[in-house]
Amino acid sequence: MLEKKVENFNMNRVIDEFEEMTRNADQVQKQTLKEILHKNKSAIYLQNFGINGNTTDPEAFKALVPLVTDLDLEPYIKRMVDGDTSPILTALPVPAISLSSGTSQGRPKFIPFTDELMENTLQLFRTAFAFRNRDFPIDDNGRALQFIFSSKQYISKGGVPVGTATTNVYRNPNFKAGMKAIQSLCCSPDEVIFSPDVHQALYCHLLSGILFRDQVQYVFASFAHGLVHAFRTFEQLWEEVVTDIEDGVLSSRITVPSVRTAMAKLLSGPNPELAETIRTKCMSLSNWYGLIPALFLNAKYVYGIMTGSMEPYVKKLRHYAGELPLVSHDYGSSEGWIAANVKPRLSPEEATFAVVPNLGYFEFLPVSETGETEQEPPVGLTEVKIGQEYEVVITNYAGLYRYRLGDVVKIVGFYNKTPQLKFICRRNLILSINIDKNTERDLQMSVESAAKRLAEEKIEVIDFSSHVDVSTEPGHYVIYWEISGETEDDVLQDCCNCLDKGFIDAGYMSSRKCKTIGALELRVVERGTFRKVQEHFLGLGSSAGQFKMPRCVKPNNVKVLQILCDNVVSRFFSTAFE
Ligand code: AMP
Repeated sequence: MLEKKVENFNMNRVIDEFEEMTRNADQVQKQTLKEILHKNKSAIYLQNFGINGNTTDPEAFKALVPLVTDLDLEPYIKRMVDGDTSPILTALPVPAISLSSGTSQGRPKFIPFTDELMENTLQLFRTAFAFRNRDFPIDDNGRALQFIFSSKQYISKGGVPVGTATTNVYRNPNFKAGMKAIQSLCCSPDEVIFSPDVHQALYCHLLSGILFRDQVQYVFASFAHGLVHAFRTFEQLWEEVVTDIEDGVLSSRITVPSVRTAMAKLLSGPNPELAETIRTKCMSLSNWYGLIPALFLNAKYVYGIMTGSMEPYVKKLRHYAGELPLVSHDYGSSEGWIAANVKPRLSPEEATFAVVPNLGYFEFLPVSETGETEQEPPVGLTEVKIGQEYEVVITNYAGLYRYRLGDVVKIVGFYNKTPQLKFICRRNLILSINIDKNTERDLQMSVESAAKRLAEEKIEVIDFSSHVDVSTEPGHYVIYWEISGETEDDVLQDCCNCLDKGFIDAGYMSSRKCKTIGALELRVVERGTFRKVQEHFLGLGSSAGQFKMPRCVKPNNVKVLQILCDNVVSRFFSTAFE
């Protein structure tokens, strides 16, 4: 991977470039498509569709190359994972593979990660930072308290490094220099970011943040959930953190040798004065309201994804942030970045994102009011209509061509000529707490695998549903089952463990392992319960012929939740990850 010299950051220049690019969004899109096709003209995938490097016109491209989903690309990407270095989707072999959250029908989703994606990531970070810094300027030589964690990369059988997209970014040699350029150096040493134990890493992030407390300019985690989890953990462990500072000795809970050595260096001797300041601050807070500004006097804002499935965490985050502004993180995915938050003053509830026209070639597939997408062809970036919802379709430098991302967005306006969008939801996504993403199909597959255990007892699952319970910390999945007969508790306990293990989404499994998602709960309901749920919907006017049992009950569906909860006969908690 090439290590590039990172240019000095110039806020006005970055903003001017963005203005210019978005004023010419249409031309930039055409140019971006041309470059993508030119660069990858030897890709077998493109050649199979008759694209040969001379095709640069969007209309010809769209006529020749079909819309695809991750499932269609799976065989191509599998070849890369298995070590085939021929130009499959891209002209050059991909240097790494990202493990995206969400699954392809029960299998983890692999996405190519290339140098261009890394470059796009740094461009997006610079753009978003420039706009943030214009509204909330930070001090030179400050630092950011970043709750970031790099999970392990493994090497596939074919010799390709595989990891989550964030891991691929954090492990890239250009990451640190890119962060430094935008005055966002982490407080924690690298060893903490790369710690194999996330609990120890979180403790050290908190401790490092306090050691650099005067320099901390903003507080960040990719997701609002991560921020809330960090400060909930602080509530429990703050006295230990203070003792470490007072004595200048790291807690014995940190056992990873590289992390201990790096943190011991940072602690560098007793600091009773700082310890006393933090102790006084913590004890003076009422129910931890305003904890973040109390700890980090110079922090200007709190930053992370607060939209979409992160909305339920905003209230608690606001509590910790007190008067500090909450700034919504930008919109992207393992597949690539899409849009930047160029209006950082908007609250998480109002946040919108401006599509960055040189990050890829974007199409928008209209979503009808009933949620269907197949009726109308996709439209280009400058042809979208305000108020309409679309599924995002990406063509990018990393080998994705007309790839349906599966996200639904709503166009709320234009920033110059580029669409300004709101994130609405992930199509088909039903279960999500933090970085986990499971669809109806994933739930179904988990239930099917667990039902096999029940079948050994000659019992069937009559019907099922689910909901996400975030009323406890950490949140957990609840699965409701109506079954055709009675059986021993140990059989149902096995089924419960099987359900938990049945969700093989990388985000879910890693969150379960590090316990940021609690044990899955199986609730067996009385016979006839799902009939009552159906009757409830029919009473609201659903047609009996078209009725579909909701596979996930949202928290606002109080009535259905009540029917389910009132009829629970037994409950089991998974021990699968103990
Ligand atoms: P992953 O592929 O694991 O990186 O997850 C990416 C997905 O997270 C996207 O496809 C969206 O569904 C969701 N996401 C990313 N950014 C945002 C955002 N700013 N607001 C809401 N959801 C987001």
